Amino acid sequence: MMNFEEIYYYDYENEPIGGGNPYKRCVHCKISTPQINGRLSGHAEWCEYRIKMEEEIRLKTRATND
Ligand SMILES: [Zn+2]
Repeated sequence: MMNFEEIYYYDYENEPIGGGNPYKRCVHCKISTPQINGRLSGHAEWCEYRIKMEEEIRLKTRATND
């Protein structure tokens, strides 16, 4: 069985942080990409992207178990 915790997620919408900061951040929770580091748990718990992906994982996990 796949461990979804080890999958890297980079397909979230992002935007430049600006103000001389070379990094980007998630448009939803505004956490920077180095801080997120490709992990869903790096996003805020209320992040729209994280919630959406966690829901997809739940559905996939259920399909695998059935
Ligand atoms: Zn986010």
